[in-house]
Amino acid sequence: MGASLKRDVWDGIISCGAAIDELGISFRNSFCPKIGNGDDILFWKDEWCEAGLRLMDKFPRLYALEVDQNCSLSARWRLVDGNWCVQWNWKVNPRGRSLSVVSDLTNLVMNLTLPEGCCDGWFWHLNSNNLFSVKKLSNIIYSRLSMGQCLGKKTHAWNPLIPRKVNIFVWRAVLDRLPVLTKIDTRGIDIPTVLCPLCEEVPESLDHILIACPKVKLIWRKCFSWWGVKFPDGGMDFTDVINGSFCQHISSHLHKVFQGVCFVTMWAVWKLRNKMVHSRVEDKLAVGSEDIFAVIQSNTLLWISNRFPKGQFNWKAWITNPSSFHPTVVGVG
Ligand SMILES: [Zn+2]
Repeated sequence: MGASLKRDVWDGIISCGAAIDELGISFRNSFCPKIGNGDDILFWKDEWCEAGLRLMDKFPRLYALEVDQNCSLSARWRLVDGNWCVQWNWKVNPRGRSLSVVSDLTNLVMNLTLPEGCCDGWFWHLNSNNLFSVKKLSNIIYSRLSMGQCLGKKTHAWNPLIPRKVNIFVWRAVLDRLPVLTKIDTRGIDIPTVLCPLCEEVPESLDHILIACPKVKLIWRKCFSWWGVKFPDGGMDFTDVINGSFCQHISSHLHKVFQGVCFVTMWAVWKLRNKMVHSRVEDKLAVGSEDIFAVIQSNTLLWISNRFPKGQFNWKAWITNPSSFHPTVVGVG
């Protein structure tokens, strides 16, 4: 992605900006506009004249008088007969004190020229070349998360034994950023149903889809039984999984391994859920009856053994009695 960001991409990035800021990255302040022809910059709403300054905040009375509050910079600052001049569009002409404020505002744009044929763009200070890149942002987030950063009051348990994509998925879930249907519905987006895509019985919440759904519980029971861990009588919730509340009976050197299995289980459930949401009606029965437990076992063996080079894993031991495993590596526990 180059310097020029489309507005919808920009809005998408900004919507998760607070979560990224919570990692101490100062993401939302890392962009500043590169003014081109002014077509893509919002005159009142973008911070184009000074970092952290929106004209709608600095001049609220004038903003209230504006006919088109989403107007572009180029709509208000135009070249007319060779001279740059303001083109106001007020609901009611400003009077009294507001008139002097108009002149303050005019002074702010006075020296601006908007080069024709040159698109607006953004500088991104977190990249040495000033260009925004999803890959670079992903690397920055990854390095922060792997340092075990605190996310507000919630501490995310980064697990080094499983892939980055799984850890980032868990991070989004910890921050309550997964687009579960009840969450989408509260945003006012029109969706056909809020019922869980897997059981179609209960509204889909984070706890329900990742843990409490009867279909998902079956998978958790298999995982717990595989590891010889008693499934909690009173059930469990998402926070229990993150905190590893039921790990007591597992040797401490295997806590991270079991936690990795739990994280991969949630990730695999979410993938299945997405597959269900996007599958055709005639395929839903087949998708819903997929047994992802074997996939969880094989993926965790592959991923954890690759990141645990001296651990003596083999498939038979892994599927029959993983908790008997004795790693030779000190420090992963
Ligand atoms: Zn369900």
